Amino acid sequence: MKLKRYLFVMVCAFMLLISATAYAQPQPPVLIVTNGSWVYLSWTEVAGATGYTLSYAPLPYTGPASIVVVDMGTQKSLSGELPAGVAFYAVVQSRDNTGLSQYSNVVSVIGGSYPTDIIARAAKLPAKDMSQSLLYNNLLEWEKAVVSKMVQAAAYMDAAYWQQVDPEGEKLWRSLASASTSLEKAVYTMLDANYGRWDRFLNFASFVGAIERPPGGYVYPADLTKSELDAYIAANPMEKDALLNPFTVVRRSGEKLVTIPYHQEYAAFVDPTALLLFEAAELSQNPTLTKYLRLQAQALRSDNYYEANIAWLDLNCNIDVSIGPHEIYDDQLTGQKAFYKTNVLLVDQSAAAQLAKYKSTGPALQENLPVDPKYKPVYKADTMMPLLLADDIRRSGQGRAIMEPVAFSLPNDPKVWAAKGSKKVMMGNYLTTRRTVVLEPLAQVILDQSVTAMIDHEAYFTWVLMHEVCHTLGPREVVKGGQTLTPREALGEYYSPIEEGKADIGGLYNIPYLISHGLVTAPLEWHYAGFMAESLRSIRFGMGSPYGVIRSAAWNIFLDKGALVYDSVSNRFNMDVPKMTAAVRELLITLITIEGDGDTTAAANLINTYSNIRPELKKLLDAAENSVPLEFVPVYEK
Ligand SMILES: [Zn+2]
Repeated sequence: MKLKRYLFVMVCAFMLLISATAYAQPQPPVLIVTNGSWVYLSWTEVAGATGYTLSYAPLPYTGPASIVVVDMGTQKSLSGELPAGVAFYAVVQSRDNTGLSQYSNVVSVIGGSYPTDIIARAAKLPAKDMSQSLLYNNLLEWEKAVVSKMVQAAAYMDAAYWQQVDPEGEKLWRSLASASTSLEKAVYTMLDANYGRWDRFLNFASFVGAIERPPGGYVYPADLTKSELDAYIAANPMEKDALLNPFTVVRRSGEKLVTIPYHQEYAAFVDPTALLLFEAAELSQNPTLTKYLRLQAQALRSDNYYEANIAWLDLNCNIDVSIGPHEIYDDQLTGQKAFYKTNVLLVDQSAAAQLAKYKSTGPALQENLPVDPKYKPVYKADTMMPLLLADDIRRSGQGRAIMEPVAFSLPNDPKVWAAKGSKKVMMGNYLTTRRTVVLEPLAQVILDQSVTAMIDHEAYFTWVLMHEVCHTLGPREVVKGGQTLTPREALGEYYSPIEEGKADIGGLYNIPYLISHGLVTAPLEWHYAGFMAESLRSIRFGMGSPYGVIRSAAWNIFLDKGALVYDSVSNRFNMDVPKMTAAVRELLITLITIEGDGDTTAAANLINTYSNIRPELKKLLDAAENSVPLEFVPVYEK
């Protein structure tokens, strides 16, 4: 307390001294600081200013003699390394031919230290150039020209996303772009991969400075809490829709909360993106693409995406692009706000025939489920969404922030689902890279050599695809206490892990059907091997995600059934294929029954009993910690 008062008095003394020397002429800039062992100061540009002057003094303030004045020329930022325990006050002034401005706000520049393991953490995120695809060579000249426009647009969406998640972090990230020391390079990699100062693999723990991540990013006021927002909405019910609209930012205006549409708030990025889409539409010789690009450009400028989403589902072209505010994962305040991203996709048309075969199996797979008919409603022909295999040659914004998706399903608008469904995109180059960079090295540390040898591209792809198909299978309605609910409503917090489990295990269960109908040639156990490796990746990230929860449960259930076997001599996990097949069937019945009955007690029992990491696996996961990447970071040649 005493120290605080002392500091306060010192700040006042410092302010007094500097305000006595100020002129009133040009506007003062606004000074912003990012603290850490790499401190970063920046100030706003003042129109008409011919230069800027920075003044700083040690904190605590020791008197006028300690003030240092530096002419910054026209530079508007400054960064440098500052050890823990070293701190300064700083202010900045603008100047023009009439003289100096008033002082800006005073900031405290505080040196700190990055986590001691930051270099090791960055090393677990190897960079991979993801810009190349053999499919590019098949494109016509106009298609290549459209791709080039989309790649330019991706950079604007990247910048818009930074504004949404960490505008201060972006400045630091840019200032470190040509970093030379290993510490600076590590901080750059971490900022680049995480899009912000918080580690997505460590529950958003801060690695620069001490500020905690605002749960909703910067699309809300950073200090807004869920309870304050709820209370505000309760008191102002007419404003609820605007406040929770996916495409508005929320800001404070005195006591009030106000909203600004995305297309206004982010106009600096959205307008050039829209322009590039219009230009691409002019180049396009494919009517479905032309239509979509025009509608999407208009949508970005109005935040009304319905027509553009419909046009995206109707797209029939060698090029596909998913661009704009889509996924809501970054909004951990209300889960409503959409974040900007891009995926520039080259469609693998040679896979279309094979995918169409899988798609048409929906009704048969539903019939094939080993459960009571009441859990398998008639499978509507239109339940199955458009399915695409593509190479993603440029992703940006939310689409690039780790963890890297290998598939996505959009749009998220239920009105579009009702009218037209949704589209599932599998990204072949990401499937391949995840398998080679993460899954196979992880398997080598944990699984028996014979199992590791079975991890194969086609089998892994088929299982991931079947996982997606299985989301459309099984119960659609739950009758509970006289009410008809969706499984999501009936299961609440248990829905995600149970639903993901149904998709995982249902995917494995369907493989023999696909094999017997000549749709798949890879042996059954290869699919089991791919599932095991993917499970290990999720379990490694812990119980924070529905995948970690349900895959660790499945792992332990399979162990108890003898389907998975830990060999203490080789210190590796192996599988027993016939027992695995039986255990897959049994677990699938359990999961579908829980979902169809909306049985939260059974869901809780399953998760409480089995969702944990047993010591043998824990030891092996620890052994993999330093040798196996957590994730790769897509990078692109400049
Ligand atoms: Zn899923």
